[in-house]
Amino acid sequence: MRRLLSVENLTLLSILLGAGAGILKPELMKELKIVGDVFLNLLKMIIVPLVFTSVFIAMLGLGDIARFRDVGLKTVAYYVTTTAFSVLAGLVLVNLLQPGKGLDINLPSDSVEVGRLSFEDVLWSIIPSNPVESFAEGRVLQIIFFSVLLGLATLSISKDKREHVFALFDGLNDGLINLTRWIIKLTPVGVFALVGFMVADLGLSVFLSLWKYALTVTLGLLIHAFVTLPLLGYLLGRYNPYAYFLKVREAVLLAFSTASSAATLPVSMQVAEEKAGVRKETAGFVLPLGATINMDGTALYESVAAVFIANVYGINLELYQMVMIFITATLASIGAAAIPGAGLIMLTLVLSSVGIPLEGIALIVAVDRFLDMLRTSINVWGDLNGARIIDRFVRG
Ligand code: ASP
Repeated sequence: MRRLLSVENLTLLSILLGAGAGILKPELMKELKIVGDVFLNLLKMIIVPLVFTSVFIAMLGLGDIARFRDVGLKTVAYYVTTTAFSVLAGLVLVNLLQPGKGLDINLPSDSVEVGRLSFEDVLWSIIPSNPVESFAEGRVLQIIFFSVLLGLATLSISKDKREHVFALFDGLNDGLINLTRWIIKLTPVGVFALVGFMVADLGLSVFLSLWKYALTVTLGLLIHAFVTLPLLGYLLGRYNPYAYFLKVREAVLLAFSTASSAATLPVSMQVAEEKAGVRKETAGFVLPLGATINMDGTALYESVAAVFIANVYGINLELYQMVMIFITATLASIGAAAIPGAGLIMLTLVLSSVGIPLEGIALIVAVDRFLDMLRTSINVWGDLNGARIIDRFVRG
C-alpha cells in the first residue's frame, strides 16, 4: 500500500485529477493557481545555491583538470549528438505527416520581433562580469562557468585548506538535497494546482485545428523518449533504460507539470543520485549543464513547428532549407532558457534563418503550453540518460 501511495504515483494521479478538475471546475482551478506558484517558488528557491555547490564540489571531486576535460568533452559531445538525433527524427516525421498542408486557417498578420543570437550574446551569457549578479538573476550558465573555474582553481590550494572547503560545500549541498526531498513531498499538491490551472486557462478546443501538428510533435517526442534514448542507454550506458525510467520518473513528471527544466533540476539531481546511484561528481556537473544546454525535446519541436508554419503558408522548403532548420533548431535549443515558453521565443531564430514569416508563430501559440510540458519532460529525460551514460564512461 505504501508503495502504491509513493510520491511518484500520487504525482501521476494528481496530473490526471488536475486535468479533470481544470475541465470541470475551471474557476476553482484558476483560484488555486497560487498553490502551484508557491510550489514552483520553493523549487526555484533551491536552484541557484544547488547549481553552485554541486558544480563546485563536482570539480573538487574530479580531482584534476585532465579529468574535467574528459568529463566536459564527453558531456558536450553526448548532448550535441543526441540533440541532433532528435531534430532528425522531428524532420523525418514532419515530412512524412506534413501537418499544415492544405490547412485552411486565417493567417496572422501581427508583427513579431525577431530574436537574434549574436556571438557576443552567447559569450556574455556564459562569462559573467559579476558573479553576484549572475546569482541574483539566476543565470545558470554563468554560475556554472564561475563554479567550474573556482573549483579548478581551488584544486591547487593546499590540501589541508581544500579539505575544509570541500567539507563545507559538500555539507551545504547535502542540506540542499535534503530540502529538495522535503519539497518533493508537496509535489502531488503542487502538480494538481499547476496542471489544473493550465487546463482551465487553455481549454481543450485549441487542439481542434492543430491536432495534426500537436500529434506530429508528440509522436516525435515519444520516439525519442522511448526508442532513441533507451537505445543509447542500453548500448552505451549498459543499463536497463526502462528500469532507470521508473527510478527517476518523479523528475520527468515534474518537468511535465512545470514545463521548466530549471525548476525540475533539484529533483533530477536528487533522484539521479539517491534513487539511481549516479555518482555525485557526475550528476553535479552533467545535470546542471544539461538542464541549461541539452534540450532534445525543444530541438525536435522547433524543427516540426518551423516546417508546419511553412506548410500553412504554402512555402515549399528546399533541402538546403531543411539543413538550415536542422542546424538552427539545434542551436536554438542550446540557447533556450530552461523556463516555460523559452522554446517558442527561440523559434524566431529558426524561422528567420530560412525566411518563414515570423507571424506564423501566432498559429501555434494556443497549443504551445501543452507541447512545452511534453518537450520539457523529454529534455529532462535526455539529461538524466546523459548523466547515467557519462557516469559509466568516466568511472575511474
Ligand atoms: N520549457 C523548456 C524547458 O524548460 C524550454 C522550452 O520552452 O522548450 O526545458
